Amino acid sequence: MNIYENINLNKVIIGSCMMTALGFSKISDSVATTMKEAGQNFVVIDELFDRAGELISSFTGGEDTCVTSSASAGIALSVAGIITGKNLAAVEMLPLTDGPKKVILQKGHSVNYGAPVTTMIRLGGGTPVEVGQSNSTSIDHLEEAIDDETVALMYIKSHHCVQKGMLSIEEMVEVAKKHNLPLIIDAAAEEDLKVYLEKGADLVIYSGAKALCGPASGLVTGRKDLIDAIKMQYKGIGRAMKIGKVGIMGLLKAIEEYSNLDLMESAKRQKELAKLLCDRLADEENVTTSIVQDEAGREIYRTKVMLNPDKTDMSGKEFLAKLHEGPIEVHVRKHYINLGIINVDMRALNEEEIDFIATKIKDILK
Ligand SMILES: *Cc1c(COP(=O)(O)O)cnc(C)c1O
Repeated sequence: MNIYENINLNKVIIGSCMMTALGFSKISDSVATTMKEAGQNFVVIDELFDRAGELISSFTGGEDTCVTSSASAGIALSVAGIITGKNLAAVEMLPLTDGPKKVILQKGHSVNYGAPVTTMIRLGGGTPVEVGQSNSTSIDHLEEAIDDETVALMYIKSHHCVQKGMLSIEEMVEVAKKHNLPLIIDAAAEEDLKVYLEKGADLVIYSGAKALCGPASGLVTGRKDLIDAIKMQYKGIGRAMKIGKVGIMGLLKAIEEYSNLDLMESAKRQKELAKLLCDRLADEENVTTSIVQDEAGREIYRTKVMLNPDKTDMSGKEFLAKLHEGPIEVHVRKHYINLGIINVDMRALNEEEIDFIATKIKDILK
């Protein structure tokens, strides 16, 4: 029994990868060991913040970095830091400000990733201003919205956003520079830790628990003067979003491992596991299986399991609901469930779990 089963909760097997609702990504043994040691020893916390920022910056190319409790906290604290600068009285006054502090984003970027991105802007004292239409923004829309009360531009890089008809990062950078405004990029779930700063963003935000497979944590990396102002928020609203030494050390270890990750080695392992699931289901005539690469072309391989309409009447939805049933729930990627297709992501799985998934599928289709 795992520790969640010990308190009467279902065991969950993740063939979907990186979903907050299911407890984030899986941390490695060495991240777990690091967190144990971090919790059992003491350090001057301000010095740890500064040193962690320095170390993480070597991976991001930022002038400095501030660690946060989540990417959401990173958004709120970035907005707060831009509004207050290093003025202690202003830091202590938040979330109140003298007048609206507008943060402009494209309407197609105003997404809900579990919570609205606009809520995090407000939490940091900002007033979100959405420009353009949900599927179309022009540079005019953006420039016409900029006024004396505007403090920043924000760009959300995410599969949640509308992808067509939006301004590019390059266009946002150009407008930000022309109007002397900082550009914040929320890249919470993205894999490349450098590219958005290289493109000209002033601040870039990542989640520690998504691609990086760290504990619940986040980071903001970029311009030194802004990072200093963001760190100061821990004397104000940031106190409610505290990350402790355990989270900081876990995040540091996760980034170090992530930067050493051999993508080819990981892809090879994923293909082996994907083949194992295909093999285990080879004699199950109600499904057809194949190994597929990630739609976005990343080095990620999954097993596609398609219900055979000639053999079974079960709908994709029904199939998924049965996979979710306890006592051991199986969660998979369900983007094509209307077509009777599930995709099983291998990154958080081992051989034993794949056997379990195959057996569960067979039992469901009996
Ligand atoms: C997940 C996500 C966040 C929030 O990340 P947390 O670390 O869970 O707070 C923010 N923005 C986008 C685009 C996301 O996908």
